[in-house]
Parts: sequence; structure tokens; C-alpha cells
Amino acid sequence: MSIYLDYQAARPVDERVLTEMVPYFKEKFANPSSLHCDGDVATDILEQSRENVAKFINAPNPSDIIFTSSATESNNLALIGAALNRQKKGDHVIISEIEHISILNLGKYLERQGFKVSRVPVDQYGIIRLDKLERLISDNTILISVATASNEVGSLQPINEISEIASKKKILFHTDAVASESTIPIDVQKVPIDLITLSSNDIYGPRGVGALYLKKGVRVNPVIIGGGQERGMRSGSENIPGIVGFAKAAEIMKEEMTTEAERLRKLRDKVIKSVLDTIPKSHLNGHPEKRLPINAHFRFDYIEGESLILGLKDEKIAAATGSACSSKTLEPSHTLIAMGLLHEEAHGSLLLSLGRFTKEADIDKIIEVLPGIVKRLRILSPLTPPDLLKQYKEVDS
Ligand code: PMP
Repeated sequence: MSIYLDYQAARPVDERVLTEMVPYFKEKFANPSSLHCDGDVATDILEQSRENVAKFINAPNPSDIIFTSSATESNNLALIGAALNRQKKGDHVIISEIEHISILNLGKYLERQGFKVSRVPVDQYGIIRLDKLERLISDNTILISVATASNEVGSLQPINEISEIASKKKILFHTDAVASESTIPIDVQKVPIDLITLSSNDIYGPRGVGALYLKKGVRVNPVIIGGGQERGMRSGSENIPGIVGFAKAAEIMKEEMTTEAERLRKLRDKVIKSVLDTIPKSHLNGHPEKRLPINAHFRFDYIEGESLILGLKDEKIAAATGSACSSKTLEPSHTLIAMGLLHEEAHGSLLLSLGRFTKEADIDKIIEVLPGIVKRLRILSPLTPPDLLKQYKEVDS
């Protein structure tokens, strides 16, 4: 078994969740649309699960939750659905420069459909510039979509302020809460967000399930057309075992989030302090405090992130250079470039993301091996300056 420090890419399903799901693959397999009593069992558990997911974000009505197949689908429903629904009011949508790739590509898609899409810039910490956001808003703006936190560098976004700006101007506000949902509570009765994307796997539920929260009265056009399930907003037979798992995961997470986030924050701070103290020319990407409790994102001068990942792989440690969803492109991270880093700086990144099953011993192991891996790579790198090479050699002799 490897030491797994890539929770932002995928999480294991909690045993308690799995146990809850099993009967719905077997004896309780019926379709909630069926009129017989087995169908009633499925309908009951579907509605009970909806209630649990609603409670997770303190949504007043369970019907505010629409189950989908993934966070990507929820983002599609939010952006395409809201843009189409509001196109008579205006044609302008605002996203940020550091959104998850699903939102960035939805922005491009909406542009191809004739909408105008603006991208709010961020500061050096990857936090969006509220002054710039306000300046981008026009009478034609119908939707703002900014994630609760960067899924790469972990910077927490000023969601309360954005929702205030949006609601004053009667603009819909959507947030993709996937990166933060395991550590930062959301209370829609305190912060008036119109649309929220949630994912099951990011709270240790199964993959293949997501949800979109829709504030009462907010309308979106469906993007999947069919039998009219989910109040007509998302057709297709409901994935009952997945939804049951999602709901159980939400229930556990609501109960354990505060303690879990505190424990992970301490481990995160331990690894950040140690890396910055022991590895010369290492930097923390993102904000030092306003960041996800699970996120430690570093940059090391003179070396490539990919070679670091391979070095860690030899030690049986699973880590990432950034977002798994963008790893198929050779381009440097759009988030780091938006934060003002140069291409060569953006290439030297390492993302350690922690989670429910991360132990202190895992953190101690990475603290033990990382300085040696960085040093070995720097000794081989033609970019390492002579004074640093000399420093490494002096330590060795
Ligand atoms: N939004 C964010 C912030 C994500 O990190 C991800 C990927 N985990 C997604 C959306 C898309 O999730 P999925 O691939 O499960 O659809």
C-alpha cells in the first residue's frame, strides 16, 4: 500500500458508506418510478437521501437538491441551464480565471453559443479580485460562477462577499463547492448562494453521483432530457445505491467535519513548516492562512514537478503536481499562471492533499524523504545555480 496524499484527485469510499449502499444493489434494487411496493421503498430512500444531502448544507427544502451523475454534470446544469433560462434577461456570464477545468470549458462552450464570458483575475495568492469582479458586472450579467476554493492551490474565495454583490444586483451566483466540501461547512441560510455543485466522492461517498443545490425559486433549463425525473431537471433513472451512499457520506461528514478539519489542518501545517524550513528555494503556493485544511501546494526552484512525483513514487508515496483533471495537458497550470508565476516556476509544483485516512506517520515519512529527493534532482538539473550545488556538497562532506 502506498502513502496516499492525493485526496483532491480521488477518495476512498468510507466503510460505513459502503455498508449502507450494499442492499440497494441487491434486494432493494427497484426503480423509484415503479408503482409497486418495491418502487415505494426506492422512492422512500431517495427522498430520505435528498433530505440528508439538503441538511449537509442546511438547505430548507429537500426538493432544493437535484441529484446528478457527477460534479461535472452539476456544473453543466448550473451554467448551461441558468444561462439558457435567463437569456432573455442578458447574455453575460462571469467566471474566475482559476476555476476547475469543467467550468473553464463550459465558459468556452457558452461563448460558442453566443454568450459573453468574462474571467475575473486573481491576486498572487489565487484569491479573486472583488474590485475587478464589481467592474465586470453590467446590466447584461445573468450569472457569476466562482468556486468556494481553488482545487489546486487551495485558496479560499470570498464567497460571502461575492454572494452579497450578486444578490444586490439580482445576478445568480453559482459556486462549485467540491474542493472545500470536506472541510469548510456551507450554510445556505446564512450565505445566500443560488446554485451549489456538490460531489459525493469528495466526502468519501461513491463516484458517479453529484448534486446541484438550487435555491427555491431559481430556475434552470434541463441539459439531460428524458423521463422527467428530478423535477424534470435531470432525467434518467436515479442511481439509488450511489445516492444512498452520498447521503450517508454527507451525514458522517456533517458530524465529523469540525474535528477532522482541525486534525488535518495541524498535519498540513506540520508538513508546510518542515518543507519550507528544510528545503532551500522552496515556496508555498496559495495563501498561507486562507487555504483548505487539506492542501499543501509547493514549488521548488530548478526542478520539474513530474520528476518529483516519480521520486516520491519510488518511496511508495502518491502525490500530484496539480489538478488530476488537467493532467492530460502539457500546459503549465492555468491557476499558477493566473497568480503571476512564470512558466518555469509553474512547472516545479507538488500538491500534497490530505484526507480522512492520512496519519501523522504518513506526514513524517514525506518530511523525511522529500528533502533528499529534491536535492538529488537539483544535483542533476542544469538549472541549479553553483552556490546551491556547493551548499549541497558541503553538507555531504
Ligand atoms: N469541480 C472541482 C472543484 C473538482 O475538483 C472536480 C474533480 N474532482 C470536479 C468539479 C469534477 O468532478 P467529477 O470529475 O467527479 O465530475
